[in-house]
Amino acid sequence: MPIKYRRIILAVGFLNSVFRLAPNCLAYAALMDSISLAHDHPHDRQPSWVKNLAKVCGDLPEPVLVDVDDLPTCAPGLPMLLERSAKTTLQAGWDDSTKLVFRARGHDVTRRRLQPYLKLPDPRHRHAVTQLLLCDHPLAVEQLRRRRWARGRIERPQRLCRFCRTAVEDEVHALFGCRSSERLLLARDQYLADLFTQAPATRIMFYTSPAADLVDHLVNHTETLPAFAAYVHDVFRIYDETPMFLLT
Ligand SMILES: [Zn+2]
Repeated sequence: MPIKYRRIILAVGFLNSVFRLAPNCLAYAALMDSISLAHDHPHDRQPSWVKNLAKVCGDLPEPVLVDVDDLPTCAPGLPMLLERSAKTTLQAGWDDSTKLVFRARGHDVTRRRLQPYLKLPDPRHRHAVTQLLLCDHPLAVEQLRRRRWARGRIERPQRLCRFCRTAVEDEVHALFGCRSSERLLLARDQYLADLFTQAPATRIMFYTSPAADLVDHLVNHTETLPAFAAYVHDVFRIYDETPMFLLT
């Protein structure tokens, strides 16, 4: 749950708890004052805690209507509406992302489970796979997305591989494509030889299936995940130890 939604749900929880207080409590009286201010000055800049709450909820990407005229009735249902708004927004964020290339696309945000790769015992390998799946890694396709030239944004076709300088340095190219680094080739040949011995069915998959499907298979099977995570870590390290190639 994003922190923004947590804070709003916390405020709504406070609102509901104040409604349950006796009318002679100061917090209850203050809330009534705030509601009166929101009623009497609905459109001007007169500040009011209730008006601010209604505005924050109404400005969400998936707006939640706070009925200031009938707040005691509306308030108990707000936490559920806010959670639904958060899920809808998160799901749209996953589905509309232009940078997620692996299994994170199509992820159902309502399904909460500890992903198998988060149980990897070696934190370096766990970190590397997480970086790969969420596309937050040292490869140029991501790192140069964050940089700007004086003349503007570095477009994807210009984020070339630091070794071969011809293909875009993206996840699939680094893991399975580039053949211009001896260290990379050595690591890949060793990894694939071990993989095909340990799980022969992956050989056909490697040559016939899209790379995203292969990666999806490797991270979802306990027998292939540890070695794949170690390989991803090696590949990122090899790339990270060579400066990125920048077109001039
Ligand atoms: Zn390359």
